[in-house]
Amino acid sequence: MNTLAQRARRVADIAALNADIVDRDARFPVEAVDALRQERLLGIQVPARFGGEDVGLAEIAELCCTLGQACSATAMIFAMHHIKLCSLVTHGAESEWHCDLMERVARDQLLIASSTTEAGIGGDLRNSLCAVEVSGNRFSLTKDASVISYGAHADLILATARRDRDAPSSDQVLVALLRDQLSLERTSRWDTLGMRGTCSDGFLLEARDVPVVQILPKPFAEIAAQSMLASSHLLWGSVWFGLASFAVDRARAFVQMEARRKPGQVPPGALRLAEVANELQAMRSAVVAGLRRFEIAQGDPNELGSIGFTVMLNNVKLTASSMAVGIVQQALSIVGLAGYKNGTPFSLGRVMRDVMSAPLMIANDRILSNTANLLLVQKGGGQLLSA
Ligand SMILES: Cc1cc2nc3c(=O)[nH]c(=O)nc-3n(C[C@H](O)[C@H](O)[C@H](O)COP(=O)(O)OP(=O)(O)OC[C@H]3O[C@@H](n4cnc5c(N)ncnc54)[C@H](O)[C@@H]3O)c2cc1C
Repeated sequence: MNTLAQRARRVADIAALNADIVDRDARFPVEAVDALRQERLLGIQVPARFGGEDVGLAEIAELCCTLGQACSATAMIFAMHHIKLCSLVTHGAESEWHCDLMERVARDQLLIASSTTEAGIGGDLRNSLCAVEVSGNRFSLTKDASVISYGAHADLILATARRDRDAPSSDQVLVALLRDQLSLERTSRWDTLGMRGTCSDGFLLEARDVPVVQILPKPFAEIAAQSMLASSHLLWGSVWFGLASFAVDRARAFVQMEARRKPGQVPPGALRLAEVANELQAMRSAVVAGLRRFEIAQGDPNELGSIGFTVMLNNVKLTASSMAVGIVQQALSIVGLAGYKNGTPFSLGRVMRDVMSAPLMIANDRILSNTANLLLVQKGGGQLLSA
C-alpha cells in the first residue's frame, strides 16, 4: 500500500476525522500534518538526487484534491507548502545552500510557509515595502506580515522583500528563513469565516544575522513568473476542486437516498444534480488543461513568462475559484436543510465557508486587472488544442 494515492488516502482519512474540530477551534490540523510527515509527503517534490521522489506538479495536484475532499485546511497547507517547495526546487539548484536545504526538507520533512502579504501592500505579490539590509555577508529583515498561514508551526518561511533599502518596491528577492533564525510576534489572530485551520495569523517577522547565501539568487520577478504563479493557481485550483467534488458527492448521495425512498420517481434534485455535475466537469477541465500546459512549458522560461501563459494561469484561478463557490452553493441547494445543518451526513456548512476564501486568495479583481493590462499588448491567434 505505498503508491502516492494510497499514502495520501491514509492522510485524508485522518484529516477527515479531525476536520470539524479543526474548523470549530480554528486550530492547526496537527494530526493530519503529522500524518503527512509520517507518509513522507512533504519532500516528494525534491529531486531524487537530494533525497526526494521527483514528483511533478500534476501528481501533487491530485493529492491536493484528495486532501481537499477531507479537510480544506490540511489540503491548503499541503498546497502552500508545495508551492514554496516548487520555487525552491526550480530556482535553488544553482546555490549550494539551497541544495542542502532541499536535502533537509526531504530528510526532516520540514514544513514551509509563505510570507508575501504585507501591511500596506495587501495581496500585491509583486511589490514589497520591507527590505533586506545587508551588512558584509549577513542580512537582517523586518516585515509586518499581515498573513502567514501556519506561521507559528512552520520550520521554514520563504519571504519576499525589496532587494535593499534603496530598491524600488518591485525589485524584490525571496529569502529562506529557518525557524531558529526568526522571531515572530503575533499581531493578529486568524478568526475567520472559513479556512480556519490554516491559522493564518499576522506576525511581525524579524530575522537578524542571516547569511546572505540564503537569499535565492534569481530576482523574485523571475521566480514569480516561472514557478510561483503556476504552482499557486494550479495547486489552489486542485484544492478547490477537491472541495467542490466533496460537495457534489454529498448532493449525489442525498438525491440517491431520495430515489430509494420513493421508488419509481425521479427526485426533484436529480435535474439540479445533473447540472452541477456538468459544472464540476467543466471546472476539472480548466484545472487539468492548465496542468497540461504547465507540463509542456516546464523548463522553458520564455514560455512560462509569456503573456499568453500568464493570462491562461490567471484565467484558471478566476474560473476555478468562482466555479468552486457556485458548485458548493448549488450542492447546498440540492441537499437543502440537511446540508445547512451541522452534524448530518450531508452537512455542507464548513465546506461552503471554506470555499468562500477562493476568490479572495489574491483577489479576483486584482487578477482581472492584471490580465486587463496584459490584454492591451497581447497578440491574437489562439488555437483549440495549443492555447
Ligand atoms: C486562506 C488564506 C491563506 C492565506 N495565506 C497566506 C500566506 O500564507 N502568506 C501570505 O503572504 N498571504 C496569505 N494570504 C493572503 C492572500 O495571499 C492575499 O494577500 C489576500 O487574500 C489579499 O487580501 P485583501 O483582500 O485584504 O487584499 P487586496 O489584494 O489588497 O484587496 C483588497 C480589495 O481591493 C480590491 N483590489 C485590489 N487590487 C485591485 C485591482 N488592481 N483592481 C481592482 N480591485 C482591486 C480587491 O478586490 C479587494 O476587494 C492568505 C489568504 C487566505 C484567504
